[in-house]
Amino acid sequence: MLDGCGRTIDYLRLSVTDLCNYRCRYCMPAEGVCKRPHADILSVEELVEIGQAAVACGVKKIRLTGGEPLVRRGILSICRGLRAIPGLEELCLTTNGSLLPELAKPLREAGVDRLNISLDTLQPERFANMTRSGTLSDVLDGIHAAEAVGFTDLKLDTVLIGGFNDDEVGGFLQLTMEHPWEVRFIELMPMGPCAEWETSCFLSVDTILKRYSTLQVIEPNGVARRYHLPGAKGTVGLISPLSHDFCGQCRRIRVTADGKLKGCLHSREELPLRGLHGKDLEDAIRRGILQKPQRHHLAEGPSDTPRTMNQIGG
Ligand code: SF4
Ligand code: SF4
Repeated sequence: MLDGCGRTIDYLRLSVTDLCNYRCRYCMPAEGVCKRPHADILSVEELVEIGQAAVACGVKKIRLTGGEPLVRRGILSICRGLRAIPGLEELCLTTNGSLLPELAKPLREAGVDRLNISLDTLQPERFANMTRSGTLSDVLDGIHAAEAVGFTDLKLDTVLIGGFNDDEVGGFLQLTMEHPWEVRFIELMPMGPCAEWETSCFLSVDTILKRYSTLQVIEPNGVARRYHLPGAKGTVGLISPLSHDFCGQCRRIRVTADGKLKGCLHSREELPLRGLHGKDLEDAIRRGILQKPQRHHLAEGPSDTPRTMNQIGG
């Protein structure tokens, strides 16, 4: 359906947990987040019911997010339940990849169509430092496990951070020469722990275009401007929420793991969905779509949402 600004809304990002087995410095505090009582988090049945109502309101694509969705108990039942919704065209999932060695095959069997895997550095020590608890080889094994079970059009999501990984762009581009993957560089957004970081950390992805003039433009896909290197098997995506805000083309809504509909990642406004069923649930989702904010206001200051990234699902 159309929102109040005339944008078609057909994409739901559905967070299934705000927990994660990593503690990335730009996302979470070192001690992690408090584990909420089980009852505070949407059940498998509630998640599927929200998915059904969203599809009835025109959603065609659902992406499962977290925190880290693969640490959620019942993730395979959630995937199976959502995949069975008539009219849902695509079920995707964004993961840090660390649990894919065990879960890639069951996720494929549960009906997940596509995976995005977060990967901010190709250097083991930096990876351990940024995630505070992760091992790079787990993620690389996860990527290969995903490919082996048929997730062929993988997207690797890399948050570009000045002074941390901007010297690794060449290594990531090299991956696209060797693999049919899309490496997507995403601008760091000033929210949660990184809201107060030095301005030098917040790089425009256009710096990549300036540095690698051999990148050739190809057709965009969703919010990503896309390029490829001559002879590459894969592609490069640039996602620039700060330097080129794409709010005018935004097609998405979000539901948090505690059941709040958010029209915009950076907005304070939330609409509670728990306890609603059938037509009441659909009406609430329609209301949330109609009230979706027109744009973020990051040019004027940090994100307005009081939630951290792991509580919204990126
Ligand atoms: S950025 Fe992703 S992988 Fe890192 S702590 Fe947050 S949810 Fe976990
Ligand atoms: S800032 Fe809000 S409106 Fe803009 S693209 Fe992101 S979610 Fe959509």
